[in-house]
Amino acid sequence: MHADVLILGAGPAGCAVATPLARAGRDVLIVDALAQPAAAIGESLLPFGARVIELMGVSMEGFQRKDGAVFTRGADSVRFAFAESARPTWGHAWQVPRDDFDARLRGAALAAGAQLVVAKASHYEPDARTLHTDQGPIRCEQFVDAAGRRKFLARQLGEVELHPRLRNAALHTRFRGVRALQPEQPGDITICAWSGGWFWLIPFADGRTSVGLVLTPGHGLKDDRWAGALAACPEAAARLDGAEQLGELGGVSDFTAYSRRFSGPGWALAGDAAMFLDPVFSSGVLGALESGWTLGEVLRDGGDLQAWEQRLRAAMVPMEQSVLAFYDGTFLDVACAPVGLQKPRFRKAIISLLAGDLFAPGNEASRRMAGKFGWLADLAALAPR
Ligand SMILES: Cc1cc2nc3c(=O)[nH]c(=O)nc-3n(C[C@H](O)[C@H](O)[C@H](O)COP(=O)(O)OP(=O)(O)OC[C@H]3O[C@@H](n4cnc5c(N)ncnc54)[C@H](O)[C@@H]3O)c2cc1C
Repeated sequence: MHADVLILGAGPAGCAVATPLARAGRDVLIVDALAQPAAAIGESLLPFGARVIELMGVSMEGFQRKDGAVFTRGADSVRFAFAESARPTWGHAWQVPRDDFDARLRGAALAAGAQLVVAKASHYEPDARTLHTDQGPIRCEQFVDAAGRRKFLARQLGEVELHPRLRNAALHTRFRGVRALQPEQPGDITICAWSGGWFWLIPFADGRTSVGLVLTPGHGLKDDRWAGALAACPEAAARLDGAEQLGELGGVSDFTAYSRRFSGPGWALAGDAAMFLDPVFSSGVLGALESGWTLGEVLRDGGDLQAWEQRLRAAMVPMEQSVLAFYDGTFLDVACAPVGLQKPRFRKAIISLLAGDLFAPGNEASRRMAGKFGWLADLAALAPR
Protein backbone atom coordinates (compact mmCIF):
# COMPACT_ATOMS: atom_id res chain seq x y z
CA MET A 1 0.00 0.00 0.00
CA HIS A 2 1.15 3.55 -0.64
CA ALA A 3 -0.11 7.05 0.24
CA ASP A 4 1.10 10.55 -0.47
CA VAL A 5 0.33 11.61 3.12
CA LEU A 6 0.02 8.85 5.72
CA ILE A 7 -1.48 9.86 9.07
CA LEU A 8 -1.33 7.53 12.06
CA GLY A 9 -4.31 8.19 14.36
CA ALA A 10 -7.90 9.21 13.59
CA GLY A 11 -8.34 11.27 16.77
CA PRO A 12 -8.79 15.06 16.80
CA ALA A 13 -5.23 15.74 15.62
CA GLY A 14 -5.19 13.17 12.81
CA CYS A 15 -8.58 14.21 11.43
CA ALA A 16 -7.62 17.89 11.63
CA VAL A 17 -4.38 17.28 9.66
CA ALA A 18 -6.22 15.22 7.06
CA THR A 19 -9.05 17.62 6.27
CA PRO A 20 -7.26 20.59 4.61
CA LEU A 21 -4.92 18.22 2.74
CA ALA A 22 -7.72 16.02 1.43
CA ARG A 23 -9.78 19.05 0.48
CA ALA A 24 -6.83 20.23 -1.61
CA GLY A 25 -6.96 16.93 -3.51
CA ARG A 26 -3.96 15.26 -1.85
CA ASP A 27 -3.94 11.47 -1.46
CA VAL A 28 -4.43 11.11 2.31
CA LEU A 29 -4.57 7.80 4.18
CA ILE A 30 -5.42 7.65 7.90
CA VAL A 31 -4.51 4.51 9.86
CA ASP A 32 -6.22 3.74 13.16
CA ALA A 33 -6.37 0.59 15.24
CA LEU A 34 -10.05 1.16 16.02
CA ALA A 35 -12.77 0.61 13.44
CA GLN A 36 -15.01 2.86 15.57
CA PRO A 37 -13.81 5.52 18.03
CA ALA A 38 -14.04 4.42 21.67
CA ALA A 39 -14.80 6.23 24.92
CA ALA A 40 -11.68 8.11 26.06
CA ILE A 41 -10.52 10.89 28.35
CA GLY A 42 -10.36 14.40 26.87
CA GLU A 43 -14.05 15.22 27.05
CA SER A 44 -14.23 18.87 28.09
CA LEU A 45 -13.61 21.23 25.18
CA LEU A 46 -12.57 24.89 25.24
CA PRO A 47 -14.42 27.66 23.38
CA PHE A 48 -11.48 28.46 21.06
CA GLY A 49 -11.47 24.83 19.90
CA ALA A 50 -14.52 25.87 17.87
CA ARG A 51 -12.24 27.58 15.33
CA VAL A 52 -11.07 24.28 13.85
CA ILE A 53 -14.37 22.49 14.54
CA GLU A 54 -16.07 25.11 12.35
CA LEU A 55 -13.38 24.91 9.67
CA MET A 56 -13.91 21.14 9.57
CA GLY A 57 -17.67 21.65 9.32
CA VAL A 58 -18.44 19.39 12.29
CA SER A 59 -21.91 19.72 13.86
CA MET A 60 -21.91 19.88 17.67
CA GLU A 61 -25.65 19.37 17.93
CA GLY A 62 -26.72 17.24 20.88
CA PHE A 63 -23.57 17.77 22.95
CA GLN A 64 -23.84 19.39 26.38
CA ARG A 65 -23.15 23.11 26.09
CA LYS A 66 -20.41 24.31 28.47
CA ASP A 67 -20.61 27.97 29.45
CA GLY A 68 -18.11 28.14 32.27
CA ALA A 69 -15.65 26.60 34.67
CA VAL A 70 -15.96 26.34 38.45
CA PHE A 71 -13.00 25.95 40.79
CA THR A 72 -13.30 24.99 44.44
CA ARG A 73 -10.62 24.85 47.14
CA GLY A 74 -11.88 24.22 50.64
CA ALA A 75 -14.50 26.84 51.47
CA ASP A 76 -13.55 28.94 48.43
CA SER A 77 -15.26 28.58 45.09
CA VAL A 78 -15.36 30.69 41.97
CA ARG A 79 -17.09 30.49 38.59
CA PHE A 80 -15.76 31.93 35.34
CA ALA A 81 -18.17 32.42 32.43
CA PHE A 82 -16.49 32.17 29.02
CA ALA A 83 -18.71 34.90 27.58
CA GLU A 84 -16.79 37.37 29.79
CA SER A 85 -13.39 36.69 28.23
CA ALA A 86 -11.35 39.57 26.72
CA ARG A 87 -12.21 38.33 23.19
CA PRO A 88 -15.42 36.30 23.43
CA THR A 89 -15.25 35.24 19.76
CA TRP A 90 -16.42 31.82 20.92
CA GLY A 91 -18.40 32.30 24.13
CA HIS A 92 -19.05 28.67 24.99
CA ALA A 93 -17.74 25.15 24.44
CA TRP A 94 -19.11 21.59 24.80
CA GLN A 95 -18.69 18.49 26.95
CA VAL A 96 -18.28 15.58 24.54
CA PRO A 97 -18.25 11.81 24.99
CA ARG A 98 -15.24 11.09 22.80
CA ASP A 99 -16.66 8.11 20.93
CA ASP A 100 -19.34 10.40 19.47
CA PHE A 101 -17.08 13.47 18.98
CA ASP A 102 -14.27 11.52 17.32
CA ALA A 103 -16.79 9.78 15.03
CA ARG A 104 -17.96 13.21 13.83
CA LEU A 105 -14.35 14.32 13.23
CA ARG A 106 -13.67 11.12 11.26
CA GLY A 107 -16.80 11.79 9.23
CA ALA A 108 -15.49 15.26 8.32
CA ALA A 109 -12.04 13.96 7.31
CA LEU A 110 -13.55 11.18 5.18
CA ALA A 111 -16.06 13.59 3.60
CA ALA A 112 -13.08 15.77 2.63
CA GLY A 113 -11.68 12.80 0.69
CA ALA A 114 -9.31 11.07 3.14
CA GLN A 115 -9.29 7.25 3.26
CA LEU A 116 -9.26 5.21 6.49
CA VAL A 117 -7.48 1.89 7.00
CA VAL A 118 -8.07 -0.05 10.22
CA ALA A 119 -4.69 -1.40 11.30
CA LYS A 120 -2.44 -1.36 14.34
CA ALA A 121 0.96 0.17 13.68
CA SER A 122 4.08 -1.31 15.27
CA HIS A 123 6.87 0.97 14.04
CA TYR A 124 7.87 3.49 11.41
CA GLU A 125 11.01 3.33 9.29
CA PRO A 126 11.96 6.96 8.55
CA ASP A 127 14.56 6.16 5.87
CA ALA A 128 12.26 3.81 3.94
CA ARG A 129 9.24 6.06 4.71
CA THR A 130 7.33 2.92 5.66
CA LEU A 131 4.84 2.30 8.44
CA HIS A 132 4.65 -1.30 9.60
CA THR A 133 1.20 -2.47 10.64
CA ASP A 134 -0.59 -5.74 11.38
CA GLN A 135 -2.17 -5.38 7.91
CA GLY A 136 1.21 -5.04 6.19
CA PRO A 137 3.62 -2.20 5.38
CA ILE A 138 2.39 1.16 4.05
CA ARG A 139 4.79 3.42 2.14
CA CYS A 140 4.34 7.18 1.95
CA GLU A 141 5.95 10.46 0.91
CA GLN A 142 4.99 12.22 4.17
CA PHE A 143 4.25 10.57 7.51
CA VAL A 144 2.32 12.25 10.33
CA ASP A 145 2.21 10.72 13.79
CA ALA A 146 -1.09 11.79 15.37
CA ALA A 147 -1.41 8.63 17.50
CA GLY A 148 -1.69 10.34 20.85
CA ARG A 149 0.11 10.58 24.15
CA ARG A 150 2.12 7.34 23.85
CA LYS A 151 4.16 9.30 21.34
CA PHE A 152 4.60 6.53 18.80
CA LEU A 153 7.34 8.11 16.68
CA ALA A 154 9.03 10.40 19.23
CA ARG A 155 9.40 7.44 21.59
CA GLN A 156 10.87 5.30 18.81
CA LEU A 157 13.33 8.10 18.00
CA GLY A 158 14.19 8.72 21.68
CA GLU A 159 12.85 12.27 21.54
CA VAL A 160 10.29 12.26 24.38
CA GLU A 161 10.86 14.83 27.12
CA LEU A 162 8.81 14.52 30.33
CA HIS A 163 8.03 17.78 32.12
CA PRO A 164 10.31 18.04 35.17
CA ARG A 165 7.61 19.61 37.37
CA LEU A 166 4.45 17.92 36.12
CA ARG A 167 4.74 14.20 36.89
CA ASN A 168 1.10 13.61 37.76
CA ALA A 169 -1.13 10.53 37.55
CA ALA A 170 -4.88 10.27 36.99
CA LEU A 171 -7.74 7.90 37.77
CA HIS A 172 -11.05 8.28 35.96
CA THR A 173 -14.49 6.77 35.46
CA ARG A 174 -18.09 7.86 34.93
CA PHE A 175 -21.00 8.37 37.28
CA ARG A 176 -24.73 8.95 37.01
CA GLY A 177 -26.57 11.23 39.41
CA VAL A 178 -23.74 13.66 40.24
CA ARG A 179 -25.00 16.80 42.00
CA ALA A 180 -24.35 20.28 40.63
CA LEU A 181 -23.72 22.52 43.64
CA GLN A 182 -23.29 26.28 43.88
CA PRO A 183 -21.90 28.12 41.97
CA GLU A 184 -22.18 25.66 39.03
CA GLN A 185 -24.47 26.32 36.09
CA PRO A 186 -25.69 23.39 33.96
CA GLY A 187 -22.87 22.10 31.75
CA ASP A 188 -20.00 23.74 33.66
CA ILE A 189 -16.83 21.79 34.31
CA THR A 190 -15.97 21.68 38.02
CA ILE A 191 -12.44 21.39 39.32
CA CYS A 192 -12.22 20.57 43.05
CA ALA A 193 -8.69 21.17 44.33
CA TRP A 194 -7.21 19.68 47.50
CA SER A 195 -3.67 19.40 48.82
CA GLY A 196 -2.82 16.19 46.91
CA GLY A 197 -4.36 17.09 43.55
CA TRP A 198 -7.82 17.77 42.12
CA PHE A 199 -11.00 16.17 40.83
CA TRP A 200 -12.71 16.95 37.52
CA LEU A 201 -16.47 16.66 37.00
CA ILE A 202 -17.61 16.89 33.38
CA PRO A 203 -21.38 16.58 32.84
CA PHE A 204 -22.70 15.11 29.58
CA ALA A 205 -26.07 15.76 27.95
CA ASP A 206 -27.31 12.21 28.75
CA GLY A 207 -27.02 12.59 32.55
CA ARG A 208 -23.68 10.83 32.92
CA THR A 209 -20.69 12.69 34.34
CA SER A 210 -17.02 12.00 33.65
CA VAL A 211 -15.17 12.14 36.96
CA GLY A 212 -11.40 12.10 37.28
CA LEU A 213 -8.82 12.44 39.98
CA VAL A 214 -5.39 13.90 39.24
CA LEU A 215 -2.77 13.12 41.87
CA THR A 216 0.44 15.07 42.32
CA PRO A 217 3.59 13.15 43.34
CA GLY A 218 3.26 14.31 46.97
CA HIS A 219 -0.37 13.21 47.41
CA GLY A 220 0.45 11.01 50.40
CA LEU A 221 -2.34 8.46 49.78
CA LYS A 222 -1.68 4.73 50.16
CA ASP A 223 -4.07 1.90 49.25
CA ASP A 224 -7.48 3.14 48.08
CA ARG A 225 -6.40 6.41 46.50
CA TRP A 226 -9.86 7.26 45.14
CA ALA A 227 -11.59 6.92 48.52
CA GLY A 228 -8.67 8.63 50.28
CA ALA A 229 -8.82 11.60 47.94
CA LEU A 230 -12.61 11.90 48.36
CA ALA A 231 -12.14 11.92 52.13
CA ALA A 232 -9.59 14.72 51.71
CA CYS A 233 -11.80 16.71 49.33
CA PRO A 234 -15.30 17.13 50.79
CA GLU A 235 -16.31 19.42 47.88
CA ALA A 236 -15.90 16.53 45.42
CA ALA A 237 -17.42 14.03 47.87
CA ALA A 238 -20.53 16.23 48.26
CA ARG A 239 -21.05 16.26 44.50
CA LEU A 240 -20.65 12.46 44.25
CA ASP A 241 -22.80 11.73 47.30
CA GLY A 242 -25.46 9.20 46.23
CA ALA A 243 -24.19 9.01 42.63
CA GLU A 244 -23.83 5.65 40.88
CA GLN A 245 -20.39 4.68 39.56
CA LEU A 246 -20.79 3.31 36.03
CA GLY A 247 -17.48 1.55 35.41
CA GLU A 248 -14.08 0.52 36.68
CA LEU A 249 -11.44 3.16 37.32
CA GLY A 250 -8.98 3.71 34.47
CA GLY A 251 -5.52 5.09 35.09
CA VAL A 252 -2.82 7.09 33.27
CA SER A 253 0.40 8.74 34.39
CA ASP A 254 3.27 10.90 33.15
CA PHE A 255 1.12 12.44 30.46
CA THR A 256 2.78 15.86 30.40
CA ALA A 257 5.46 15.41 27.77
CA TYR A 258 6.71 17.06 24.59
CA SER A 259 8.73 15.69 21.72
CA ARG A 260 12.10 17.46 21.36
CA ARG A 261 11.34 17.94 17.63
CA PHE A 262 7.95 18.21 15.96
CA SER A 263 9.25 17.26 12.50
CA GLY A 264 12.13 15.69 10.58
CA PRO A 265 12.78 14.55 7.01
CA GLY A 266 9.47 13.26 5.69
CA TRP A 267 7.72 13.16 9.07
CA ALA A 268 5.85 15.47 11.46
CA LEU A 269 3.91 15.15 14.72
CA ALA A 270 0.50 16.54 15.67
CA GLY A 271 -1.57 16.62 18.85
CA ASP A 272 -0.42 14.66 21.89
CA ALA A 273 2.17 12.91 19.75
CA ALA A 274 3.98 16.27 19.67
CA MET A 275 2.96 17.87 22.96
CA PHE A 276 0.62 17.47 25.88
CA LEU A 277 0.32 19.62 28.96
CA ASP A 278 -1.45 18.64 32.15
CA PRO A 279 -5.27 18.44 31.79
CA VAL A 280 -6.22 20.93 34.53
CA PHE A 281 -7.33 23.62 32.06
CA SER A 282 -8.67 21.15 29.44
CA SER A 283 -6.38 22.38 26.67
CA GLY A 284 -5.57 18.97 25.12
CA VAL A 285 -8.16 18.70 22.35
CA LEU A 286 -7.72 22.40 21.52
CA GLY A 287 -3.97 21.78 21.08
CA ALA A 288 -4.65 18.65 19.03
CA LEU A 289 -7.08 20.44 16.70
CA GLU A 290 -4.91 23.55 16.30
CA SER A 291 -1.63 21.69 15.80
CA GLY A 292 -3.35 19.27 13.42
CA TRP A 293 -5.16 21.81 11.27
CA THR A 294 -2.16 24.16 11.00
CA LEU A 295 0.13 21.22 10.17
CA GLY A 296 -2.27 20.21 7.41
CA GLU A 297 -2.12 23.77 6.02
CA VAL A 298 1.70 23.89 6.19
CA LEU A 299 2.04 20.53 4.42
CA ARG A 300 -0.55 21.55 1.82
CA ASP A 301 1.19 24.87 1.10
CA GLY A 302 4.81 23.68 1.36
CA GLY A 303 5.26 25.96 4.37
CA ASP A 304 8.00 26.16 6.97
CA LEU A 305 7.70 23.38 9.56
CA GLN A 306 10.24 25.01 11.89
CA ALA A 307 8.22 28.24 12.00
CA TRP A 308 5.05 26.19 12.58
CA GLU A 309 6.65 24.41 15.54
CA GLN A 310 7.86 27.70 17.02
CA ARG A 311 4.37 29.20 16.79
CA LEU A 312 2.85 26.17 18.55
CA ARG A 313 5.42 26.14 21.33
CA ALA A 314 5.01 29.89 21.86
CA ALA A 315 1.22 29.55 22.01
CA MET A 316 1.49 26.94 24.76
CA VAL A 317 3.78 29.03 27.02
CA PRO A 318 0.95 30.98 28.75
CA MET A 319 -0.91 27.72 29.32
CA GLU A 320 2.16 26.12 30.86
CA GLN A 321 2.73 29.15 33.13
CA SER A 322 -0.91 28.97 34.23
CA VAL A 323 -0.76 25.21 34.84
CA LEU A 324 2.34 25.68 37.02
CA ALA A 325 0.53 28.50 38.85
CA PHE A 326 -2.37 26.11 39.51
CA TYR A 327 -0.04 23.58 41.14
CA ASP A 328 1.90 26.16 43.20
CA GLY A 329 -1.44 27.55 44.44
CA THR A 330 -1.09 31.08 43.02
CA PHE A 331 -3.72 30.58 40.29
CA LEU A 332 -6.37 29.77 42.90
CA ASP A 333 -5.10 32.49 45.26
CA VAL A 334 -5.85 34.96 42.47
CA ALA A 335 -9.00 33.26 41.15
CA CYS A 336 -10.57 33.08 44.62
CA ALA A 337 -9.36 36.53 45.76
CA PRO A 338 -11.92 38.96 47.20
CA VAL A 339 -14.08 40.37 44.42
CA GLY A 340 -12.78 43.91 45.04
CA LEU A 341 -9.31 42.74 44.10
CA GLN A 342 -10.38 41.07 40.90
CA LYS A 343 -9.90 43.97 38.53
CA PRO A 344 -12.16 43.42 35.51
CA ARG A 345 -9.19 43.28 33.11
CA PHE A 346 -7.46 40.57 35.16
CA ARG A 347 -10.67 38.58 35.40
CA LYS A 348 -11.20 38.88 31.64
CA ALA A 349 -7.61 37.79 31.05
CA ILE A 350 -8.03 34.72 33.31
CA ILE A 351 -11.17 33.80 31.40
CA SER A 352 -9.34 34.26 28.09
CA LEU A 353 -6.80 31.69 29.26
CA LEU A 354 -9.52 29.32 30.42
CA ALA A 355 -11.32 29.76 27.07
CA GLY A 356 -8.14 28.71 25.24
CA ASP A 357 -7.42 32.04 23.52
CA LEU A 358 -3.83 30.96 22.84
CA PHE A 359 -3.32 30.41 19.15
CA ALA A 360 -5.01 33.27 17.31
CA PRO A 361 -3.12 36.55 16.77
CA GLY A 362 -4.21 39.24 19.24
CA ASN A 363 -4.21 36.99 22.31
CA GLU A 364 -2.21 39.50 24.41
CA ALA A 365 -4.65 39.27 27.34
CA SER A 366 -3.84 35.59 27.94
CA ARG A 367 -0.12 36.04 27.39
CA ARG A 368 0.21 39.00 29.77
CA MET A 369 -1.92 37.39 32.47
CA ALA A 370 -0.11 34.06 32.56
CA GLY A 371 3.13 35.49 33.97
CA LYS A 372 1.38 37.49 36.68
CA PHE A 373 -0.16 34.90 39.00
CA GLY A 374 2.77 35.07 41.44
CA TRP A 375 2.64 38.79 42.19
CA LEU A 376 -1.15 39.00 41.98
CA ALA A 377 -1.30 36.21 44.57
CA ASP A 378 1.03 38.24 46.82
CA LEU A 379 -1.32 41.23 46.45
CA ALA A 380 -4.34 39.05 47.20
CA ALA A 381 -2.66 37.75 50.36
CA LEU A 382 -2.30 41.35 51.64
CA ALA A 383 -5.95 42.22 51.02
CA PRO A 384 -8.36 42.30 53.97
CA ARG A 385 -10.87 39.42 53.91
C1 LIG B 1 -6.06 12.61 32.60
C2 LIG B 1 -6.35 13.35 31.34
C3 LIG B 1 -7.51 14.11 31.22
C4 LIG B 1 -7.76 14.85 30.05
N1 LIG B 1 -8.87 15.65 29.98
C5 LIG B 1 -9.01 16.47 28.90
C6 LIG B 1 -10.12 17.37 28.82
O1 LIG B 1 -10.99 17.42 29.69
N2 LIG B 1 -10.20 18.17 27.74
C7 LIG B 1 -9.28 18.13 26.72
O2 LIG B 1 -9.39 18.89 25.77
N3 LIG B 1 -8.26 17.26 26.76
C8 LIG B 1 -8.10 16.44 27.82
N4 LIG B 1 -7.08 15.54 27.83
C9 LIG B 1 -6.19 15.47 26.68
C10 LIG B 1 -6.83 14.77 25.48
O3 LIG B 1 -7.19 13.45 25.85
C11 LIG B 1 -5.81 14.74 24.34
O4 LIG B 1 -5.09 15.95 24.27
C12 LIG B 1 -6.46 14.50 22.97
O5 LIG B 1 -7.25 13.34 22.96
C13 LIG B 1 -5.35 14.40 21.93
O6 LIG B 1 -5.86 14.09 20.67
P1 LIG B 1 -4.92 13.33 19.63
O7 LIG B 1 -5.69 13.30 18.35
O8 LIG B 1 -3.57 13.91 19.63
O9 LIG B 1 -4.76 11.85 20.21
P2 LIG B 1 -5.86 10.76 20.61
O10 LIG B 1 -7.15 11.40 20.91
O11 LIG B 1 -5.20 9.93 21.66
O12 LIG B 1 -6.04 9.90 19.27
C14 LIG B 1 -5.04 9.00 18.87
C15 LIG B 1 -5.62 7.97 17.88
O13 LIG B 1 -4.54 7.16 17.44
C16 LIG B 1 -4.92 5.79 17.47
N5 LIG B 1 -3.70 5.00 17.68
C17 LIG B 1 -2.85 5.11 18.72
N6 LIG B 1 -1.83 4.25 18.58
C18 LIG B 1 -2.06 3.55 17.44
C19 LIG B 1 -1.35 2.52 16.75
N7 LIG B 1 -0.19 2.03 17.23
N8 LIG B 1 -1.87 2.04 15.62
C20 LIG B 1 -3.03 2.54 15.12
N9 LIG B 1 -3.73 3.52 15.72
C21 LIG B 1 -3.25 4.03 16.87
C22 LIG B 1 -5.94 5.69 18.60
O14 LIG B 1 -6.83 4.59 18.40
C23 LIG B 1 -6.66 7.04 18.51
O15 LIG B 1 -7.79 6.98 17.68
C24 LIG B 1 -6.83 14.79 28.98
C25 LIG B 1 -5.69 14.00 29.07
C26 LIG B 1 -5.44 13.29 30.24
C27 LIG B 1 -4.17 12.46 30.33
